[in-house]
Amino acid sequence: MKCKNCGTELIDDSICDFCGLDNNKQEENAKNYNGLIAVIIIVVSLLTLLGLIICISNEKSNKLICKSERGNITIIYDDEIITNYKSVVVNNSQFVMNYDYSVKLIRKYGLAEFLDALKTLFEEDSNGSCKYEGVIPKMKSESNPLDLRNPK
Ligand SMILES: [Zn+2]
Repeated sequence: MKCKNCGTELIDDSICDFCGLDNNKQEENAKNYNGLIAVIIIVVSLLTLLGLIICISNEKSNKLICKSERGNITIIYDDEIITNYKSVVVNNSQFVMNYDYSVKLIRKYGLAEFLDALKTLFEEDSNGSCKYEGVIPKMKSESNPLDLRNPK
């Protein structure tokens, strides 16, 4: 076996008599390096897969899309709660939602009631319009609608 650094023939162990390089140690380092690359590749692959799954599930999720000249807001929801929302600035105006407060109202009144109230408020205030995309949640009762300007 020859030294990887200088090519001198190694006599009885891996440490080169000429340049002092430990030829076994270098091999170990190379192995560790390969292991690190493998781990990085796996992590990057998993992150890519995760991103893809999030993209697909976002595409499939239910939305209430509200658009107006004053601004847009998209509410994303599942069976029982709002999972996300996106505000888009239009003409320097933006609709801002208080997520925690919204969740409180949904727990109290129900998701369908909340979304319907939001739709009403948006359409009245902005002169815009909202439409559901995906599953439209069902209201428990229409006799007691939620008024977002004055929630009881
Ligand atoms: Zn050497």
